[in-house]
Amino acid sequence: MRMADVIAAISTGKQPCAIGILRLSGEGCAETAGAVFHCKNGKPLSDAPDRKLVLGTLYDARGREIDQALAVYSRAPHSYTGEDTVELQCHGSPAVLAAGLEALCRAGARLALPGEFTKRAFLNGQMDLTGAEAVIDLIEAQTVDMAANAAAQVGGALDRKLLPIYEGLTDLCSHYHAVLDYTDEDIPDFRLSDYTDSLRAYRTELERLLATCERGRVLKQGVRIALVGKPNAGKSSLLNALVGFDRAIVTDVPGTTRDTVEETARFGRVLARITDTAGIRKTEDRIEAMGVERSRAAAEQADLAIFVCDGAIPLDEEDWQAMAAAKEAKNAIAVLNKTDLEPRVFRVQLPFDPIFAVSATRGDGLEQLCRWIEQRFGMELPCDGSILTNARQSEAVRRAAAAIDRALDAMQSGITPDAVLTDLEAAMEAMGELSGRTVREDITNRIFERFCVGK
Ligand code: GDP
Repeated sequence: MRMADVIAAISTGKQPCAIGILRLSGEGCAETAGAVFHCKNGKPLSDAPDRKLVLGTLYDARGREIDQALAVYSRAPHSYTGEDTVELQCHGSPAVLAAGLEALCRAGARLALPGEFTKRAFLNGQMDLTGAEAVIDLIEAQTVDMAANAAAQVGGALDRKLLPIYEGLTDLCSHYHAVLDYTDEDIPDFRLSDYTDSLRAYRTELERLLATCERGRVLKQGVRIALVGKPNAGKSSLLNALVGFDRAIVTDVPGTTRDTVEETARFGRVLARITDTAGIRKTEDRIEAMGVERSRAAAEQADLAIFVCDGAIPLDEEDWQAMAAAKEAKNAIAVLNKTDLEPRVFRVQLPFDPIFAVSATRGDGLEQLCRWIEQRFGMELPCDGSILTNARQSEAVRRAAAAIDRALDAMQSGITPDAVLTDLEAAMEAMGELSGRTVREDITNRIFERFCVGK
C-alpha cells in the first residue's frame, strides 16, 4: 500500500508548558524530521531504533539551534496512524514549536488538517469510526466517567458490541444471496424463519444500546438543572453559590437572553448545566409574560427543576405559578431559601420531595443539596464503552433497530424473503455507517469465504 504524504502538526496546547510535541506521520517522515532534528549520536533519525527515545538538537528553518529535544520514531504499522510517525518532544515554548513546525514544512512536510492523524488511523484500519469519534470525546471529557467510557470506545468496545450483530446480518444476507445466485452449488436451504430468534436478539441488543443515549447525554453535556422561582426568591444567589461550590472547574456560558443565564458546575463526578430562568411573575406585561413561558420551557427540558422560594415572606400566587412550572420537569425539588431570616414558609406547605432549607448567601444547607444532586444523577457506569454519547451513532443504531423491526413484522405477515432482505440490508447499511464498514463488499466477501462459492 502506498503511504500518504508527510503531515506535521503541533500536538500540544498553545500555552507555554513543560513539554510540547511536534508530530509527523507518513512515509519518509523520519527523513523529513531528520532534516531539522539531529541525533546526538550523529546517526540519522531514520536509523533510530523503533519506538525508542533518542536525544538530539532541533534547528529552525535558518539552521539555528533552537532546542534540545527527544525524538521517537515509530515504524508502520506500529503507530497511532498505522503509518511511519515521528514525535519530537521539545520544551513547550510556543515560539520554539512554531519555528520547529515551520522548519518541518520547509523540509517537505505539509500542515496536518484537523483530525487528520486520527482520520489516517481510521483509514489504515487502526480503529473503527466509533473509536475515532471517541478520541474527541476523550480529549474533551469533563468528568472521569466520560473519559472512561470514551477510552473504552477508542479501544473498540462499542464496535465489539456491534460486530456480532453486523456479522449475523451479513451471514443471513449472504446466505440468501448465495442460494439465489449460485443455484448449482451445494448450499443449505434458506429459510427466513431460522433467523427469527437471532433477529429478535439483535433488536433487543440495539434497543438496550439506545436506552443508554439518555445517560450518554447526561454524561457528556451534564444534567440540565433549571432554577425556577419568582423574582427575588434567590435564584441568582443560589446559582452563584452552587457554581462557587467547586469554582476551580467551572466555566461560564454566556446567557442567551437578558434573563437567562447558564453556568456549568460539577458536583463530585456529576457535571451540571444550571439555568437561572427569568423570574415568574403574574403580569400583563408582554416581556414578563415571556419570562414565565421561558421558565416553563426551561423546566420542561430540564432533568431537574429546583423551585426556589423566599422563605422569609409568605407564599403567594407567583410562588404557585413557579411551582406549577417546576413540576413540568422530569424531576422537581424545592429549595426553601433565606433560612437565616425569620421563617414565613414551612416545609409542609411545599408539595415537593425532597425540600432543602438553605441560605444561599450564607451557604447553609448547600452541602446537602449538592450531595443529593450527586447521588441522584451520579450513575454507576459500566466501564465498557457501552454508553452512546454521540448523536450520529444513536441515529444509526435507531435506524438499524427500526429496519430489523420492519423485517420482523414483514416476516410475520408472510412477505417474500426478498422484501425482508431489503429491510435487513438497510439495517446493515446503518450499522456499516456506524463503524465505517462498507456493506456490499462485506456481503460479497462473506459469500466467498463462508460458502466457498465461485472457486
Ligand atoms: P432572584 O431574583 O431570584 O435571582 O434573587 P437574587 O438571587 O437576586 O436575590 C434577591 C435578593 O435576596 C438579594 O438581595 C439577595 O442578596 C437576597 N438573598 C438571596 N438569598 C438570600 C439568603 O439566603 N438570605 C438572605 N438574607 N438574603 C438572600
